[in-house]
Amino acid sequence: MSTSFKSAMERLKCSIRDVPDFPKKGIVFKDITPILTNGQLFRLAVTIFTERYQRKSVERIVAIDARGFIFGGALAHHLGVGLTLVRKKGKLPYKSNSIEYGLEYGQGTLEMHIDGVEKNQRVVIIDDLLATGGTAEAAAKLVELSGAEIVEMAFLVELGFLKGRERLEKYPIFSAISY
Ligand code: AMP
Repeated sequence: MSTSFKSAMERLKCSIRDVPDFPKKGIVFKDITPILTNGQLFRLAVTIFTERYQRKSVERIVAIDARGFIFGGALAHHLGVGLTLVRKKGKLPYKSNSIEYGLEYGQGTLEMHIDGVEKNQRVVIIDDLLATGGTAEAAAKLVELSGAEIVEMAFLVELGFLKGRERLEKYPIFSAISY
């Protein structure tokens, strides 16, 4: 890892704000909004993803509700590929597949349009943060229901101690920042 790459990662990491007891007591919420409000840092975060995927023949970015949309939208724009939204229950207008999942602080259902991705399409799934991996696993199942191929799952932040990577062991995982 080059020194400038390392220091860029450190700058991103230092900007993430810990918010204790949000949204529930005992959860330390990793607030990435200070990265978004700083133009240089936001660009840096998007550049890390763009450089990683620009030569991997990725055909579609699948972004997870809601902060995954921010990085996913920018990444799809830079790669010149389409963007598919995985949303929380009841938000998508068209016919959708649904998967129930458990997360660090609750239960939920994720949905994706039945034509959100195409069979054999090379897909990167993206979200802001990997915790227990339940959310990303549900998104992966939605992608697989449509027969697309998961090239990698990408996260800005990984909470290693929650072992999401182990839960997602059948998928390649990339995270820019780990705790
Ligand atoms: P999980 O399904 O447990 O991997 O949780 C990942 C999803 O929940 C992502 O969409 C994150 O945005 C959100 N999330 C879970 N835990 C945290 C946390 N400690 N700080 C910020 N976001 C979190």
